[in-house]
Amino acid sequence: ILSNRLAQVASFVPEQARLADIGSDHAYLPVYLVATGKISYAIAGEVAPGPLKAAIAQIKKYGYTGKIIPRLADGLAAIQPEDRIDTITIAGMGGLLTSDILTNGQADGFLSTRERLILQPNNHEQELRHWLTRNHYKIYDEQLVKDQGKFYEIIVADYQKSDSYTMKELYFGPILMQKKSSIFQEKWQKELQTKQKILNNLQKAYERPEAKIAEINKEVAWIKEVLA
Ligand code: SAM
Repeated sequence: ILSNRLAQVASFVPEQARLADIGSDHAYLPVYLVATGKISYAIAGEVAPGPLKAAIAQIKKYGYTGKIIPRLADGLAAIQPEDRIDTITIAGMGGLLTSDILTNGQADGFLSTRERLILQPNNHEQELRHWLTRNHYKIYDEQLVKDQGKFYEIIVADYQKSDSYTMKELYFGPILMQKKSSIFQEKWQKELQTKQKILNNLQKAYERPEAKIAEINKEVAWIKEVLA
Protein backbone atom coordinates (compact mmCIF):
# COMPACT_ATOMS: atom_id res chain seq x y z
CA ILE A 1 0.00 0.00 0.00
CA LEU A 2 2.91 2.37 0.60
CA SER A 3 4.36 4.34 -2.31
CA ASN A 4 7.90 3.52 -3.31
CA ARG A 5 8.83 7.06 -2.22
CA LEU A 6 7.55 6.58 1.35
CA ALA A 7 8.87 3.01 1.53
CA GLN A 8 12.35 4.36 0.84
CA VAL A 9 11.89 7.05 3.50
CA ALA A 10 10.80 4.28 5.91
CA SER A 11 13.93 2.29 5.14
CA PHE A 12 16.05 5.02 6.77
CA VAL A 13 14.11 4.99 10.04
CA PRO A 14 16.19 3.10 12.62
CA GLU A 15 14.78 0.00 14.38
CA GLN A 16 12.72 0.97 17.43
CA ALA A 17 13.07 4.66 16.69
CA ARG A 18 10.74 7.07 18.47
CA LEU A 19 9.50 8.90 15.44
CA ALA A 20 7.87 12.27 14.79
CA ASP A 21 6.39 12.30 11.29
CA ILE A 22 5.68 15.94 10.54
CA GLY A 23 3.05 16.64 7.89
CA SER A 24 1.87 13.08 8.26
CA ASP A 25 -1.37 13.48 6.29
CA HIS A 26 -2.91 9.96 6.37
CA ALA A 27 -0.20 8.75 8.75
CA TYR A 28 0.73 6.16 6.10
CA LEU A 29 4.40 6.25 7.08
CA PRO A 30 4.05 5.64 10.86
CA VAL A 31 1.26 3.08 10.30
CA TYR A 32 3.52 1.14 7.92
CA LEU A 33 6.44 1.30 10.35
CA VAL A 34 4.35 0.06 13.27
CA ALA A 35 2.71 -2.62 11.09
CA THR A 36 6.09 -3.99 10.07
CA GLY A 37 7.25 -4.00 13.71
CA LYS A 38 10.11 -1.62 13.03
CA ILE A 39 8.87 0.94 15.54
CA SER A 40 6.29 1.04 18.29
CA TYR A 41 5.91 4.76 19.01
CA ALA A 42 5.27 7.70 16.72
CA ILE A 43 3.78 11.15 16.64
CA ALA A 44 1.79 12.03 13.53
CA GLY A 45 1.95 15.82 13.37
CA GLU A 46 -0.39 17.79 11.12
CA VAL A 47 -1.06 21.49 10.80
CA ALA A 48 -4.34 21.02 8.91
CA PRO A 49 -7.50 19.55 10.49
CA GLY A 50 -8.54 17.59 7.36
CA PRO A 51 -5.36 15.54 7.03
CA LEU A 52 -5.28 15.11 10.83
CA LYS A 53 -8.74 13.59 10.66
CA ALA A 54 -7.51 11.22 7.97
CA ALA A 55 -4.58 10.29 10.21
CA ILE A 56 -6.87 9.62 13.19
CA ALA A 57 -9.13 7.42 11.04
CA GLN A 58 -6.15 5.45 9.74
CA ILE A 59 -4.72 4.95 13.24
CA LYS A 60 -8.09 3.68 14.49
CA LYS A 61 -8.56 1.40 11.50
CA TYR A 62 -5.28 -0.37 12.27
CA GLY A 63 -5.82 -0.36 16.04
CA TYR A 64 -2.69 1.68 16.73
CA THR A 65 -4.27 4.12 19.19
CA GLY A 66 -1.66 4.81 21.88
CA LYS A 67 1.17 3.76 19.57
CA ILE A 68 0.72 6.51 17.02
CA ILE A 69 -0.34 9.81 18.55
CA PRO A 70 -1.99 12.29 16.20
CA ARG A 71 -1.32 15.94 17.04
CA LEU A 72 -2.60 19.13 15.50
CA ALA A 73 0.43 21.42 15.48
CA ASP A 74 2.54 23.62 13.28
CA GLY A 75 5.74 21.79 12.40
CA LEU A 76 7.92 20.54 15.23
CA ALA A 77 5.55 21.97 17.87
CA ALA A 78 3.97 18.49 17.63
CA ILE A 79 6.95 17.17 19.64
CA GLN A 80 6.80 17.13 23.45
CA PRO A 81 9.79 16.32 25.68
CA GLU A 82 8.07 13.24 27.17
CA ASP A 83 7.86 11.73 23.67
CA ARG A 84 11.63 11.26 23.70
CA ILE A 85 11.66 11.56 19.93
CA ASP A 86 14.94 10.52 18.31
CA THR A 87 13.96 10.54 14.64
CA ILE A 88 12.08 13.13 12.60
CA THR A 89 10.68 12.56 9.13
CA ILE A 90 9.47 15.44 6.96
CA ALA A 91 8.38 14.13 3.57
CA GLY A 92 6.44 15.34 0.59
CA MET A 93 6.77 19.08 1.16
CA GLY A 94 8.80 21.75 -0.58
CA GLY A 95 12.42 22.13 0.51
CA LEU A 96 11.86 25.70 1.63
CA LEU A 97 8.87 24.80 3.80
CA THR A 98 10.91 21.92 5.22
CA SER A 99 13.77 24.25 6.17
CA ASP A 100 11.30 26.80 7.62
CA ILE A 101 9.84 24.06 9.81
CA LEU A 102 13.36 23.18 11.02
CA THR A 103 14.26 26.84 11.62
CA ASN A 104 11.11 27.48 13.64
CA GLY A 105 11.52 24.23 15.54
CA GLN A 106 15.04 25.23 16.49
CA ALA A 107 14.02 28.73 17.54
CA ASP A 108 11.14 27.43 19.66
CA GLY A 109 13.22 24.69 21.28
CA PHE A 110 11.43 21.69 19.77
CA LEU A 111 14.50 20.53 17.87
CA SER A 112 17.41 19.39 19.99
CA THR A 113 20.67 18.11 18.61
CA ARG A 114 19.81 14.46 19.16
CA GLU A 115 17.30 13.70 16.46
CA ARG A 116 18.15 12.10 13.18
CA LEU A 117 16.50 13.98 10.34
CA ILE A 118 15.09 12.07 7.38
CA LEU A 119 13.95 14.60 4.81
CA GLN A 120 12.29 14.10 1.46
CA PRO A 121 11.80 17.53 -0.11
CA ASN A 122 9.84 17.76 -3.34
CA ASN A 123 12.04 20.60 -4.62
CA HIS A 124 14.70 23.12 -3.52
CA GLU A 125 16.95 20.28 -2.36
CA GLN A 126 20.02 22.50 -2.74
CA GLU A 127 18.63 25.10 -0.35
CA LEU A 128 17.68 22.44 2.17
CA ARG A 129 21.21 20.98 2.09
CA HIS A 130 22.49 24.49 2.58
CA TRP A 131 20.29 24.84 5.67
CA LEU A 132 21.69 21.56 7.03
CA THR A 133 25.31 22.59 6.63
CA ARG A 134 24.71 26.07 8.05
CA ASN A 135 23.17 24.40 11.08
CA HIS A 136 25.95 21.84 11.64
CA TYR A 137 24.18 18.81 10.28
CA LYS A 138 26.20 16.22 8.49
CA ILE A 139 24.55 14.50 5.55
CA TYR A 140 25.40 10.91 6.08
CA ASP A 141 23.16 9.23 3.56
CA GLU A 142 21.09 10.12 0.54
CA GLN A 143 18.93 8.29 -1.91
CA LEU A 144 17.30 9.17 -5.18
CA VAL A 145 13.95 7.48 -5.77
CA LYS A 146 11.82 7.29 -8.88
CA ASP A 147 8.11 6.99 -8.21
CA GLN A 148 5.44 7.26 -10.91
CA GLY A 149 7.85 8.93 -13.29
CA LYS A 150 9.02 11.55 -10.79
CA PHE A 151 12.36 11.82 -9.01
CA TYR A 152 12.60 12.39 -5.26
CA GLU A 153 15.66 12.95 -3.11
CA ILE A 154 15.88 11.61 0.42
CA ILE A 155 18.44 13.28 2.68
CA VAL A 156 19.44 11.77 6.03
CA ALA A 157 21.31 13.99 8.47
CA ASP A 158 22.64 14.00 12.01
CA TYR A 159 23.74 16.91 14.13
CA GLN A 160 27.51 16.86 14.33
CA LYS A 161 30.31 19.00 13.04
CA SER A 162 29.27 19.02 9.43
CA ASP A 163 31.63 18.49 6.55
CA SER A 164 31.92 21.55 4.41
CA TYR A 165 30.33 20.97 1.08
CA THR A 166 31.07 22.59 -2.25
CA MET A 167 28.28 24.35 -4.16
CA LYS A 168 28.30 21.44 -6.56
CA GLU A 169 27.80 18.94 -3.73
CA LEU A 170 24.91 20.98 -2.37
CA TYR A 171 23.39 20.97 -5.84
CA PHE A 172 23.64 17.26 -6.64
CA GLY A 173 23.87 15.87 -3.13
CA PRO A 174 27.33 14.88 -1.84
CA ILE A 175 26.40 11.22 -1.53
CA LEU A 176 24.10 10.99 -4.54
CA MET A 177 26.88 12.25 -6.80
CA GLN A 178 29.23 9.66 -5.37
CA LYS A 179 26.77 6.79 -5.71
CA LYS A 180 25.90 7.92 -9.26
CA SER A 181 23.08 5.38 -9.54
CA SER A 182 21.35 4.72 -12.83
CA ILE A 183 18.35 6.73 -11.55
CA PHE A 184 20.74 9.61 -10.80
CA GLN A 185 22.07 9.50 -14.36
CA GLU A 186 18.55 9.34 -15.74
CA LYS A 187 17.41 12.32 -13.65
CA TRP A 188 20.34 14.52 -14.64
CA GLN A 189 20.21 13.54 -18.33
CA LYS A 190 16.63 14.75 -18.25
CA GLU A 191 17.57 17.94 -16.38
CA LEU A 192 20.34 18.56 -18.90
CA GLN A 193 17.89 18.39 -21.79
CA THR A 194 15.44 20.70 -20.00
CA LYS A 195 18.17 23.23 -19.24
CA GLN A 196 19.46 23.18 -22.81
CA LYS A 197 15.93 23.88 -24.07
CA ILE A 198 15.58 26.77 -21.63
CA LEU A 199 18.95 28.14 -22.73
CA ASN A 200 17.90 28.01 -26.39
CA ASN A 201 14.78 29.98 -25.61
CA LEU A 202 16.55 32.54 -23.44
CA GLN A 203 19.17 33.13 -26.10
CA LYS A 204 16.45 33.97 -28.59
CA ALA A 205 14.82 36.45 -26.22
CA TYR A 206 14.74 40.10 -27.28
CA GLU A 207 16.33 41.24 -24.05
CA ARG A 208 18.70 38.45 -23.17
CA PRO A 209 18.73 37.78 -19.42
CA GLU A 210 22.52 37.46 -19.21
CA ALA A 211 22.72 36.63 -15.51
CA LYS A 212 20.15 33.85 -15.85
CA ILE A 213 21.92 32.49 -18.93
CA ALA A 214 25.25 32.45 -17.08
CA GLU A 215 23.64 30.64 -14.15
CA ILE A 216 22.11 27.95 -16.35
CA ASN A 217 25.35 27.62 -18.34
CA LYS A 218 27.16 26.93 -15.08
CA GLU A 219 24.62 24.27 -14.15
CA VAL A 220 24.85 22.69 -17.60
CA ALA A 221 28.63 22.50 -17.22
CA TRP A 222 28.27 20.88 -13.80
CA ILE A 223 25.77 18.33 -15.06
CA LYS A 224 28.01 17.42 -18.00
CA GLU A 225 30.94 17.01 -15.61
CA VAL A 226 29.02 14.84 -13.19
CA LEU A 227 27.63 12.63 -15.98
CA ALA A 228 31.00 12.27 -17.70
N1 SAM B 1 4.23 13.22 4.53
C1 SAM B 1 3.22 12.71 3.64
C2 SAM B 1 3.86 12.14 2.41
O1 SAM B 1 5.05 12.32 2.22
O2 SAM B 1 3.15 11.51 1.60
C3 SAM B 1 2.19 13.77 3.27
C4 SAM B 1 2.71 14.87 2.40
S1 SAM B 1 1.49 16.09 2.12
C5 SAM B 1 1.85 16.55 0.47
C6 SAM B 1 2.05 17.45 3.08
C7 SAM B 1 1.32 17.56 4.41
O3 SAM B 1 2.06 18.45 5.24
C8 SAM B 1 -0.07 18.11 4.29
O4 SAM B 1 -0.98 17.22 4.87
C9 SAM B 1 0.00 19.44 5.05
O5 SAM B 1 -1.19 19.72 5.78
C10 SAM B 1 1.16 19.20 5.99
N2 SAM B 1 1.85 20.41 6.44
C11 SAM B 1 2.18 21.50 5.71
N3 SAM B 1 2.81 22.42 6.47
C12 SAM B 1 2.90 21.88 7.72
C13 SAM B 1 3.41 22.34 8.95
N4 SAM B 1 3.97 23.53 9.06
N5 SAM B 1 3.32 21.54 10.02
C14 SAM B 1 2.73 20.32 9.94
N6 SAM B 1 2.21 19.84 8.79
C15 SAM B 1 2.29 20.61 7.70
